[in-house]
Parts: sequence; structure tokens; C-alpha cells
Amino acid sequence: MRLPFRLLKVGHCSHPECVTQRGGRWAATLFPALCGLLRHPTRGWILFDTGYSQHFTTATQPFPERLYRWTTPFTLPPEQTLTAQLARLGIAPDDIAHVVISHLHGDHIAGLRDFPRAGFITMRGEVQAMDQRSRFGNLMHGTLPALLPDDFRQRVRYAEDAAHIALPRELRPFEQGFDLFGDGSLLAVHLPGHSRGQIGIVFRQESDRLTFMSADACWSMGALREDRGPLWIARRIFDHDGQYRQTFQRLRRMQAGGGAPLMIPSHCEQTWKAYEQSTL
Ligand SMILES: [Zn+2]
Repeated sequence: MRLPFRLLKVGHCSHPECVTQRGGRWAATLFPALCGLLRHPTRGWILFDTGYSQHFTTATQPFPERLYRWTTPFTLPPEQTLTAQLARLGIAPDDIAHVVISHLHGDHIAGLRDFPRAGFITMRGEVQAMDQRSRFGNLMHGTLPALLPDDFRQRVRYAEDAAHIALPRELRPFEQGFDLFGDGSLLAVHLPGHSRGQIGIVFRQESDRLTFMSADACWSMGALREDRGPLWIARRIFDHDGQYRQTFQRLRRMQAGGGAPLMIPSHCEQTWKAYEQSTL
């Protein structure tokens, strides 16, 4: 099954490039917050992550959470909010039926409160990691529990409870995915390391192009190609450094294989530019 797909940029933050890739520049570099919008013929509108929203400002108002905003200042022009972009496409907040959450970092979940009828899909380990940490521990791992809707736990289901099926061979060495809707249309892939239960999604666009949204398993396609991982300062927020490197190397092997899927990291400016210019 093929799914209509759009890539949306919902705000951005800036960091020195050298924080997210060794040998990078000191100059501030833009990191877009990218989201996926998909339409399933019977399951309706689906989002992959939500990017930034004004809820991020509210959640980072008190101390110590304000440190998050100070260390990672973000920009979100009013016309770029996810709800404004969806409205221009004729989609109301209530029309969003599912949000697949790659992981619980603030820049991926800040808009969840805007979609009151959506069911959420994530991995159990992601929620468990949040529950096990203190308020300060969550902040140090980039997680802002205040961004979760009050009824989050009634609305969430876990990707690993879906059927486990073989991934398309183009994704090797990744072998197994979770069949989120039981029809093979949207598969989740566990990408541990950056966070405990991070998932990416795999689907075929209407053009039949196999597409892999890989969340924060690498920050940019350039860094992946050149085998440049992030500096220790960025790795401090990771759940497990060794697993991050293992996932990163698996992505490199996948890219080196024949017929690798179109890969979309959540914060890759180069990928966004190519999408905007229709050269992706
Ligand atoms: Zn992240």
C-alpha cells in the first residue's frame, strides 16, 4: 500500500555545527524540526512527530526547565506552526487520528496537546525511561513531561505490541519492524541509543518510493556519510552512547547497500532544502 506523504518543517533551533558533528564549524547552524504527514485510506491522517509549538515556551518557563530554552533557543514563525500549516491544507486538529512519536524529546512532542482526538504510538521503553527519571534527570535527557496531554496514558499504544514483521530488504541490516496498522502500510523500526525507545517509520510514498524517517538516529545525511558523530556535549542527552553508535553504523551500512530507501533525519537542513526544491 502506498501512502500520500508530505514533509513539514515546524520551527528550528540553532547550535554550533561542531556540537552535532565532529569537525563541524563553530558558526551557528540551523536544525529544522521536521515532521511527516501521511494519509492512510482507512485510518485517516497520521503525523510523525509534531516539532515545536508554543507549548514548548510554556513548558520551559519554570526553572530548571528554562535551561532547555537557553541552551537550545528555537524559532517558530506563526505561519509555521503545525496547526497553521495543517489548516492551509484543509486539515483541522480533530482530523489527526494518530501521532507516531519517534521519541519524547521536547522538539518532537511539543505539539501533542494540539491534537485532542489523536491516538499516540510510541515504544514502552520511552515512557518507562521518563517515569524512572527525576524532573532534573528528564530535563538532562531533553524530555519535558509537561508537553504530554493529561490523558496521554489513556491514548497511547505501544509499537512493539503490533505484529513483528520482516522489513523490506533495502533496509538491511535492519531486519524487523512493527506493523503499526496490521496491513504493512506503516512500519516502525527501533533505533535505540539516542533515546531508549526511539522509533523511525518506513512506508511507500504514492510514487512507490520507499521512505525511512529516521528521527534523531543521525543529525544529518552529511554527518552520516562522513561518519562524523556528535561531540560529547550532545551525547550527554543520549540514553546509551554505545547503542547510538551501533544504530548510526547500521544506518551507514544500509546507505552503502544497493537501493537504500530515501532517508529523512528529523533535523537535516540539507534534506529539507532538497524537499523544498523538489530534488529530494
Ligand atoms: Zn532527540
